[in-house]
Amino acid sequence: MVSRELRKIALERIERLMDFAKKHALERPEIARQAVLLAMRIAQKARLRIPRRYRLMYCRKCGTPIWSPNTFTIRIRSRRSTHITIRCNNCGYIKRMLVKKKDRSRK
Ligand SMILES: [Zn+2]
Repeated sequence: MVSRELRKIALERIERLMDFAKKHALERPEIARQAVLLAMRIAQKARLRIPRRYRLMYCRKCGTPIWSPNTFTIRIRSRRSTHITIRCNNCGYIKRMLVKKKDRSRK
């Protein structure tokens, strides 16, 4: 079992690494990517989820942070339901996100 205390420490490290990645993504994208990968590994070890505010900000597959230039292609599609696709230009991973409409009718 992973203790609560350990999880807290792990979470703090993840936050610090993500902030680090954000800061360095522009000038040193490779170092930023390493930081994200490390954060992912820490999360895995501590059986934590990366906080939601960070989860959309990197490629789940290769760790490339979204702040690096020219790393992601973002498109909005609106067949049937509107969703955003984010494609990682580093590894080709495609992430899809549904865009929820504020529509209360059932159809
Ligand atoms: Zn990727």
